[in-house]
Amino acid sequence: MTLQTSQIVPATTAPPVVDIQGVTKIYEQGDVIFEALKGVDVQIGQGEMVALMGPSGSGKTTLMQIIGLLDRPNGGTYHLAGRDVTTLSENERAEARNEDIGFVFQAFHLLPRLNLVENVEVPLTYAGWPAHERRERAMQVLERVGLAGKAGNLPSQISGGQKQRVAVARALAGRPRLLLADEPTGNLDTRTSQEVMNLFCDLHDEGTTVVIVTHEADIGAYAERVIRVRDGLIESDTRQTPHREGRA
Ligand code: ADP
Ligand code: MG
Repeated sequence: MTLQTSQIVPATTAPPVVDIQGVTKIYEQGDVIFEALKGVDVQIGQGEMVALMGPSGSGKTTLMQIIGLLDRPNGGTYHLAGRDVTTLSENERAEARNEDIGFVFQAFHLLPRLNLVENVEVPLTYAGWPAHERRERAMQVLERVGLAGKAGNLPSQISGGQKQRVAVARALAGRPRLLLADEPTGNLDTRTSQEVMNLFCDLHDEGTTVVIVTHEADIGAYAERVIRVRDGLIESDTRQTPHREGRA
């Protein structure tokens, strides 16, 4: 069979996962007005691994919270996978957040009284998954991060690196379009940080879109693209050959 030119579909018809144009964010505290984002444009394609870097106070977390639908911009537009999310109601935003975004934070945020598999199930419960599917999926992602054997343990019984791997499993459980991590290695030693970063790299290799906020050059080095934020503006946006610790 001969292929007609009209049948050849471009490989990337999908809209960018993140498409932010002219986004501004203002914090008001009493009489003081602080412009944390001063008009930011960012596009992130499906399957990219991006480090969002910049000094403390530059606006990284603010930008990540807007990308993660945890906060609203004061101005500008945001399309998440082609959908305008700036005009959604709070409920619609919460729904989009549950469906599309997985979060990893510096402080792990595991619930101390729940065992590991129950922790991983939490977002699936919010997303309305039936109980037996929750457990099956949670075990699958715990397996993925190498911790299925500890499913019944409490967070207090595992190391910091293992806690962050559980947090990554929890973020992945709902099959999000976008994995967002804010200083994910901030509480970890160098060797454990490498382990966690290798996990993010593996997930990226499998096609997950990953955005990592960090002020550490060593961590930014794992990404193939580095977006630098300074004083609420994008300072630079560059591609690089990513660092792969202990791998080819
Ligand atoms: P980064 O993550 O790069 O350290 P942030 O996005 O957390 O920076 O903060 C950017 C700036 O906005 C900082 O100067 C910070 O003090 C200010 N800021 C952040 N959150 C708030 C808030 N809720 N209220 C007032 N100012 C804030
Ligand atoms: Mg921050």
